[in-house]
Amino acid sequence: MEKKTQQFKAEIAEMLDLVVNSLYSKKEIFLRELISNASDAIDRAKFLSLTDKALVQDNPEWKIQIAADKGAKTLMISDNGIGMDAAELEQNLGTIASSGTKKFREMLKEKGGESLPELIGQFGVGFYAAFMVADKVTVETMKRGTEVSCKWESDMSGGYTISDGERDFPGTSITLHLRDDQLEYLDWWRVSDLVKKYSDFIAYPITFRQLDVPKDEKEDDKKSREEREAKPLNTMVALWKRAKKDVKDEEYAEFYKHLTHDWDGPFETIPFGAEGQVEFKALLFFPKKPTMELFMPNQKRGLSLYVRNVFIGDDIEMLLPSWLRFVKGVVDSSDLPLNVSREMLQDDAIVQKIKSAVTAKVLSTLEDMKKKDVKKYDEFFTAFGTILKEGIHTDWEHADRIKKLVKYPTARTEAGKRIFLEDYVKDMASGQKDIYYIVAEREEDARRAPQLESARKHGCDVLLFCDPVDEYLSESLREFDGKKFVDVAKGDVAFGTEDEQKAEKDANEKAAKDLKPFLESAKKALEAYVSDVRVSTRLADSPCCLVQQEHALPPSMVRMMRAMKQDVPEEKRILEVNPNHPLVAKVRGFEGDALSDAMTLLYDTALVAEGSPVPDGAKFAKLLANLMMK
Ligand code: ADP
Repeated sequence: MEKKTQQFKAEIAEMLDLVVNSLYSKKEIFLRELISNASDAIDRAKFLSLTDKALVQDNPEWKIQIAADKGAKTLMISDNGIGMDAAELEQNLGTIASSGTKKFREMLKEKGGESLPELIGQFGVGFYAAFMVADKVTVETMKRGTEVSCKWESDMSGGYTISDGERDFPGTSITLHLRDDQLEYLDWWRVSDLVKKYSDFIAYPITFRQLDVPKDEKEDDKKSREEREAKPLNTMVALWKRAKKDVKDEEYAEFYKHLTHDWDGPFETIPFGAEGQVEFKALLFFPKKPTMELFMPNQKRGLSLYVRNVFIGDDIEMLLPSWLRFVKGVVDSSDLPLNVSREMLQDDAIVQKIKSAVTAKVLSTLEDMKKKDVKKYDEFFTAFGTILKEGIHTDWEHADRIKKLVKYPTARTEAGKRIFLEDYVKDMASGQKDIYYIVAEREEDARRAPQLESARKHGCDVLLFCDPVDEYLSESLREFDGKKFVDVAKGDVAFGTEDEQKAEKDANEKAAKDLKPFLESAKKALEAYVSDVRVSTRLADSPCCLVQQEHALPPSMVRMMRAMKQDVPEEKRILEVNPNHPLVAKVRGFEGDALSDAMTLLYDTALVAEGSPVPDGAKFAKLLANLMMK
């Protein structure tokens, strides 16, 4: 053949520049691309040989070889796959986006080919990633079924040449003349790491050979080199593609550790797949414990994505809603293009479908666990409940299902125990319409809160919202099973049957009238601290408690905003007194300083009871001492 010099088709030079400089963020992925192409080429040869035995007369052992020559600064990636003839070389490597692989797929689809082999490339740009690390690339190839070898060569600047090649067996070898600052890729360690990282699950053995062995290589060095080179760099197992029954638990555990760098095995392993609208295989894991990164912004989180056995990334958040960010694992889809960028993933309809399917699978796994093994579910919830709950706030679509999965301690549960909302509803007192909760930083404080007294007296249980996220989630909870969530330490609450409520209301109004002068003086005495002093419906045994106005910001939110240096206006609370308490009966008769001191003490003790600091500790101590003297 006469040596021909060709120009890349018009737009290609620009495209190439784009590919080399911006499409891929990491140079190292050139190896992934070339190995994928080699694997594709073998896939195609294998597939075509099913019907054309002549293609495999040489009885090939399918393999991908990497050969490094430090002296010549070249890295060669060879396969014994389908190969190309001159026309295909021109077509495939001279025309971007006219990817042979893509055409092949289309052709097979048209033919309705059942056993469509999995082909990686769809876009026709992967090969050019080679120019990220090489200033010249030579391709020698022989198409299976022919005996003609061709050579393609380009240094990017002046197009490419196609000429006769010297290769004497079918397949393709791609030689990269590495740039001086990219010689790291000639090193066994580096290549071996990259293969493990990106191409471990390629189905053909990938081996490495060093071509320029020093003549005086020591016997020991020779031995260890030969040992290294005899073994494939990849393990060739795609666990997620194997049926669950064929995989041992230890294998899953090892894979999980490899994937997550967790020392411990997984808490739960969920292999599953989908067929139909989107096809993918997934292998999901719940870790045993939350990792630090879950609570740190900008840390890697998400699933590993493989497209047709090729690793795309291990922090693909788009595959999971953020409230499932504790889930680890792999998704392998044959419906996505190999060179998907993050931006593309974000809006990709297939990715959205995978995300929905993964979410549904995790939810149903949790629902199952809840039904079949509550103890195990509790263990899970202790580890990840806080993150799961976020979904109630951020994911309207799934909020109702998530509500059925969350658990809370209540005024009745023993310390450390929690119940589901449906259990709460089942045990509601007769006539109870709402679901009651109280917010506190610590469970012990919540259990002791005087605001629970009347609820308790009327046989109503109260959920204890003590997880830092609970307070802001309380807004999103809205309702469960048609029942509203009501904060017992806010606004007006009434417990018991309608009759009981009416009787209580009447008694309350009467007491308020009766105590009017006292309540007014008390309010005056405490005006620096509270917005009102009024008669309470929530107390049974305690003399008083502090409550918030209906729409007030929760105290924990105020503390958080202040910590972030935000200007939050002081919101005074309401002091509620128990008209039936002997202490109140006594204090109502006080006047002047005696009343003011007594009210200050009552207010301070209400603060102490809920675990809040008193405004003037010295004064509190003095008042208390005086009282004790009396
Ligand atoms: P893609 O692989 O995405 O299709 P590439 O730019 O990587 O795009 O490759 C372009 C085309 O060149 C491929 O579709 C394939 O037809 C051909 N090709 C690349 N590498 C090889 C190879 N090792 N053996 C046979 N054909 C190859």
